[in-house]
Amino acid sequence: MHIFPFRPNYRELFVGLENLVPQGKGGSAPAVNFDNAATTPPFYKVMQEINQFAPIYSSIHRGTGYKSVLSSQVYERARKTVLNFVGGLSDYNTVIFVKNTTEAINKLAYRLWNPRKKEVILTTWMEHHSNLLPWRDKFQVDYVELDEQGSLNLEDLERKLQRHQGAVKLVTVSGASNVTGIMNPIHRIAEMAHRYQAKILVDAAQLAPHAAIEMRPISSPEHIDFLAFSAHKMYAPFGIGVLIGPRQVFEQGSPEHSGGGTVRLVTQDRVIWDDPPYKEEAGTPNILGVVALVAAIETLSGIGMKTVFKQEEHLLQYAQRKLEKMVDVELYASLTTSPRIGVIPFNIVGIHHERVAQLLSREGGIAVRNGCFCAQPYVQKLLRIPDKDMGKFMDNPLLPRPGMVRISFGLYNTCEEVDQLLTLLQEITVSERNKTKFLSSSGKLGYTSKTLSYYNNN
Ligand code: PMP
Repeated sequence: MHIFPFRPNYRELFVGLENLVPQGKGGSAPAVNFDNAATTPPFYKVMQEINQFAPIYSSIHRGTGYKSVLSSQVYERARKTVLNFVGGLSDYNTVIFVKNTTEAINKLAYRLWNPRKKEVILTTWMEHHSNLLPWRDKFQVDYVELDEQGSLNLEDLERKLQRHQGAVKLVTVSGASNVTGIMNPIHRIAEMAHRYQAKILVDAAQLAPHAAIEMRPISSPEHIDFLAFSAHKMYAPFGIGVLIGPRQVFEQGSPEHSGGGTVRLVTQDRVIWDDPPYKEEAGTPNILGVVALVAAIETLSGIGMKTVFKQEEHLLQYAQRKLEKMVDVELYASLTTSPRIGVIPFNIVGIHHERVAQLLSREGGIAVRNGCFCAQPYVQKLLRIPDKDMGKFMDNPLLPRPGMVRISFGLYNTCEEVDQLLTLLQEITVSERNKTKFLSSSGKLGYTSKTLSYYNNN
């Protein structure tokens, strides 16, 4: 029995945490959600604000009705709230509301794209597919390498910035990895990018919910030019995200989606686009999503992002230190190299990641994620699988894929829940080991470095 030090209880801020799910041993228990890097449950305050706003919900911008004017004010004020949350400047930046981080990055890729020449984008091998694929067809893409621990190799970044001799348009990097939780030194990277006349985009999908962000004034060489994040990962899952960047960048060119809301004047054959951000928000916007995002930002800011980070760091350290002591657990990120948000990737040697994830859910009602987490190149590198060996998975989609199990914490998770996970992991390891039949057929599926030699020989 553990005596946990007093920690504030944030659980009452969230919807649905006490919901029961069936357990393998019989009966049911509150679901444990360790899949917060994928998406998060809503804050109560988010639901309240949506309910309160719903009766005045109305068309915005072009409506003259009383409710339309109020709705427009709420929507426009939200841009300021978003900017304040990340230390952006309203006289310089524009806040564009989008669906999510993926849409934000695609939008920026389109905005920066010059069809007449292939310009260089520097991304990294630790990115989510949403910060890899949008760049590939429009730019010449180069990838910053990783070090042995899976952190960014900043010397390689410097080398690549030098090699492209001022031709890099953008360095695009995750604020925190959704696979390892590693937090990149975004201000140091910004300073390097600016020294080579490049701009920087921070994919803050995993950073915004868990740590304070400061875009910093443009007079600082360490400022962040572009920022993207999703509300559904910050306890406001109502289909909204943001792209922030210098207004002047979005003044040029025509938008990738045109239609209602994007124009100032349309004649039979001509169009004058509206100013950003309106030009970039085609169609009727997601006003309730914006209300939800503001409520989440207010709740998180009320707690304080430094407090949020500390709370989750405590969970990270508590869980990782205990996992380190389990001999069958192989971890893919350490506590000593880079600062991390609360994400832990691991495998149990000899048990396929999918099996572990299924058993955690079936036996203990514990939700985790398994696979490659939409970051296949990064996971391959962490598992030390050469790219040429991935061909066999393309040729045979039925072949069980290499991957990992990931636990990712939210503000509401507790050390008691971590203990539940660890106990069940121990039980799974022992019971799967004892079933020799299972091991002989599934031992080959664990592409951990300890079983890699098996994989390479087959
Ligand atoms: N970047 C990172 C680092 C992510 O973790 C995710 C979501 N897993 C995304 C981008 C994409 O976010 P969304 O699905 O909200 O577009």
